Amino acid sequence: MSTFRALRIDKAETGQTISAVDFNEADLMDGDVVVRVSHSTVNYKDGLAITGKSPVVRRFPMIPGIDFAGRVIASTSDEFAEGDQVVLNGWGVGETHLGGYAEVARVKSDWLVPLPANMTPAEAMAIGTAGYTAMLCLMALERHGVTPERGPVLVTGASGGVGSVAVALLGGLGYEVVASTGRPEEADYLRGLGASSIMPREELAAPGKPLQKERFAGVIDSVGSVPLANAIAQTMSGGAVAACGLAAGMDLPTSVAPFILRGVSLLGVNSVTVPKPIRIEAWSRLARDLDREKLKAMTETVGFDDIIPTAEAILEGKIRGRVVVEI
Ligand code: NDP
Repeated sequence: MSTFRALRIDKAETGQTISAVDFNEADLMDGDVVVRVSHSTVNYKDGLAITGKSPVVRRFPMIPGIDFAGRVIASTSDEFAEGDQVVLNGWGVGETHLGGYAEVARVKSDWLVPLPANMTPAEAMAIGTAGYTAMLCLMALERHGVTPERGPVLVTGASGGVGSVAVALLGGLGYEVVASTGRPEEADYLRGLGASSIMPREELAAPGKPLQKERFAGVIDSVGSVPLANAIAQTMSGGAVAACGLAAGMDLPTSVAPFILRGVSLLGVNSVTVPKPIRIEAWSRLARDLDREKLKAMTETVGFDDIIPTAEAILEGKIRGRVVVEI
């Protein structure tokens, strides 16, 4: 096909515009693999890119969409052949390189991961960058020695994308999971995914002391700011906190006390530029450790025309779990 359907963001005099267009294949950026995208998803960062609320997009015009799954339709790479199923997360796709909300993407083979054998492209995008990041957080805690025997693990932003997958993964591996949420009506949903107990978001919302009662062996945090500071303050001696998000804010009002008096470790997780062997490990762990029925229970599927309203909804904290986009 010489043209294909895509969402395109253009720079405007003030801000940006976004529209569905017929995009010319000749205008795709450099890459050695061309993929027929079948599925993408809406992550928080896609919400920021589409609404322009943060400067996620750094090249115009841009096709947003930070991740996708699909089938290779042309390749000059030794690594991938026509017909191979692939997944892509990050590497600036949808930010500086034309992204996933399009029927066709041309990307570098280095960025692609083979779709795990027992996973469909729709399941891969139900996981998406949010779920893949939840796995990177879990792997970071594990590398630090966190195990179910050490004690409970707190998940903040639990009804969101990263949070829902984190709860399901941890619960499936036998952890006692404490799910912090601002949506008490989602308590049954979170218990169904694997949460042992629910912590109202307010419990972490007010600034607190840097050292509080030791409660958690580990934390997976996707919200940042005061809730993260409180989570660090409630982490047991020698425990670890994997921080990946900023849904509550970019700041971190804490002190060195938890680090120097309790030996708590703060583990930063950036999914965008993770080296390929770790990506492959994360995807194979997701294929093995994430219960597909739980994945189904947290996933809603929408069409191409629903991307923009979904992007707006995710920034308002109105999306539960994950959203797959059929392209
Ligand atoms: P979602 O919107 O799906 O989840 C975020 C959740 O955070 C919400 O569902 C809500 O959960 C909670 N939340 C929202 N606002 C607040 C608030 N003001 N205070 C406390 N909690 C709040 O987004 P994603 O799961 O896709 O992404 C979560 C975060 O992780 C984002 O900041 C995103 O940018 C980041 N991220 C980072 C990556 C990385 O590589 N570092 C990769 C992927 C995501 P509830 O209603 O249950 O309280």
